[in-house]
Amino acid sequence: MKQTTTLKEHAMLIDGKWVPARSGALREIRDPGDGSLLASVPEAGREDAEAAIDAARAAFDQGPWRKTTAQDRGKLLLRVAEGIRAEAKKLAELETRNCGKPLAEAEFDVADAANCFEFYGGLATKIHGETMQVPANSLSFVVREPIGVCGQIIPWNFPLLMAAWKLSPALAAGNTVVLKPSELTPLTALELGRIAAAAGVPAGVVNIVTGPGPGAGSALAESPKVDKVAFTGGTVTGRKVMTAAAGSLKKISLELGGKNPNIVFADADLEAAVDGALFGAFANQGEVCSAGSRLLVERSLHRRLVEGMLKKVPRIKLGHGLEPGVKMGPLISAPHRDKVEAYVKIGVKEGAKLLCGGKRPAGRAFAKGNFLEPTIFDEVKPSMRIARDEIFGPVLAVIPFDTEEEAVRVANDTEYGLAAAVWTKDVTRAVRVVARLRAGITWVNTYHPTFNELPWGGYKASGIGRELGLYGIEEYLETKQVNINLDEAPLGWY
Ligand code: NAD
Repeated sequence: MKQTTTLKEHAMLIDGKWVPARSGALREIRDPGDGSLLASVPEAGREDAEAAIDAARAAFDQGPWRKTTAQDRGKLLLRVAEGIRAEAKKLAELETRNCGKPLAEAEFDVADAANCFEFYGGLATKIHGETMQVPANSLSFVVREPIGVCGQIIPWNFPLLMAAWKLSPALAAGNTVVLKPSELTPLTALELGRIAAAAGVPAGVVNIVTGPGPGAGSALAESPKVDKVAFTGGTVTGRKVMTAAAGSLKKISLELGGKNPNIVFADADLEAAVDGALFGAFANQGEVCSAGSRLLVERSLHRRLVEGMLKKVPRIKLGHGLEPGVKMGPLISAPHRDKVEAYVKIGVKEGAKLLCGGKRPAGRAFAKGNFLEPTIFDEVKPSMRIARDEIFGPVLAVIPFDTEEEAVRVANDTEYGLAAAVWTKDVTRAVRVVARLRAGITWVNTYHPTFNELPWGGYKASGIGRELGLYGIEEYLETKQVNINLDEAPLGWY
C-alpha cells in the first residue's frame, strides 16, 4: 500500500486507497479549545461503510493476510509501534487539538498506544490451542482462528488510544478491520491508518471510515458480512449496537459508561486521597468512562478531605491543552458542555451543595473554547441524578458515609460496574471491600492507572467482554475443535 503523507487530502482509508465519501460530503473538524478549523474529513455514509466492509471481507477471504504467519503479524505490529513513536510529538499535538486534553495527557496516550501495539505484537506468536484426551481413538485438538471481519466503533475521549486498543489485538489474531472513529475526533485514527499502511499492513486489512454513528456506524453493527462488532461508547448507543448486531447474531463486545465510586475510609493517607480524588474526577476534563465521579467519604474524614480538595482545585489550570502548565482543557463540544451545565443546574435544584466551579471561566482566553470550571458538589444523596447519571464532564459528587456496609451498598447502587477504588491503610479492609465491589476494574490507594497487561471492561451495564491483556485477544479469536480418526475401520453403524 502506498504511503499517503498528508491529511489535507481529506480522505479516508478504504481498501488501501485514500478516498472521499461517495456522496462527496465533508465534515469540518474543529479545535474545541479555540474553535479553529483543523481539517475537513469525509462524512461517510452507509455506502462507504459497506465498501470498507467489502474490502475487509475480500482481504480476509481471498487476500494474502490469512497466509501471514503469526510471527509476521507480530513484527508488523512492532513496526506500527515504532511508527507511532517516531511521530509521537506530532500525534500528541494533533490529539490535543482535536479532543482538547492537555498535551501531557495526550503524550501519555500516544506512548500507551505504541506500548499496546508492542504488547499485542509480542502476543501474536503466543496464541495457541490444546490437545484433549477423548474416549475414542482420535487425535483431538483445539485451534484458535481469527473471527473474520471486525467492525470497530470508538468514542472521542481517547481517540488514538481507543484505536490502538481495538486494532492491535484484532490484527495480532489475524482479523481484518473496519474502524470507525468518532465523527468528532477522526484525525489521529487517520494518522494511525497511514502509519499502519507504511508499516506494511496490506490493502483492505485496516479500513478507516470517518462518519457519524447512524449510517457509517450502524452499517458495521448491522451488516451480515461483519463477523464481529467491538464498540466503545455510551451505554445508550451500546444498546442500539447490540440490537443492530442481533439481526445477524454476530459476535459482540461492548465497553460502555460508568458512574464509578471512589471510596475513602477515615484511615487513608489524606494527601494521597486528595490527589487521587481530584485526578480521578478531573483528568481528561472528567471525560473518562472510569472517572471517579462519585467520591464516597467516611464522615469523620469528610470535612478534611473536602478542604484538602478545595485548597488544590485552583492548581487545576484551565486553558488550551497546548498551553504550558494547563491541567484541564475544554470539553469536546458546545452541546456536550451544555449537557454538563444542565447537570450542574440539576444538582443545585436537587439540593446538593455546590462547593466550587459549575461555571464557564471568564476571560478572552476562554471565549472561543468549550471550557467549564472543575465542579464539586458536596452532601450529595445517592438518589440524586448527579449521583446516578454518567455526566462525563468535570463534575464530582461527594457522598459522605458512616459505615463500611453503607459504603459498599452505595458504591454498588448503580446500573454501571466499570471501575471503583478504595483508599485505606487497612489491607484486610481493602481486600474485603474490593471483593464486594461489582466492578471490572478496581484500585487500592490509587486511581486511574491502566496497564496493557490487565483486562479492561465492566460488570452490569458497563459492558460485555474485556479489552487488553490476554483476555483482550480472546475477543478476536474463534475456537475450533479438530478430530482426526485414528481408527480407519468402517463405522459399522448400519
Ligand atoms: P457515543 O456512544 O455517543 O459514540 C461512540 C461511537 O459510537 C461514536 O463513534 C459514534 O459515532 C458511534 N455511534 C453513535 N450512534 C451509533 C449507532 N446508532 N450505531 C453505531 N455507532 C454509533 O459515545 P461518545 O460520546 O463518543 O463517548 C462517550 C461514552 O463512551 C461515555 O459513555 C463513556 O463512558 C464511553 N467510554 C467507555 C470506555 C470504556 O472503556 N468502557 C472508554 C471510553 C469511553
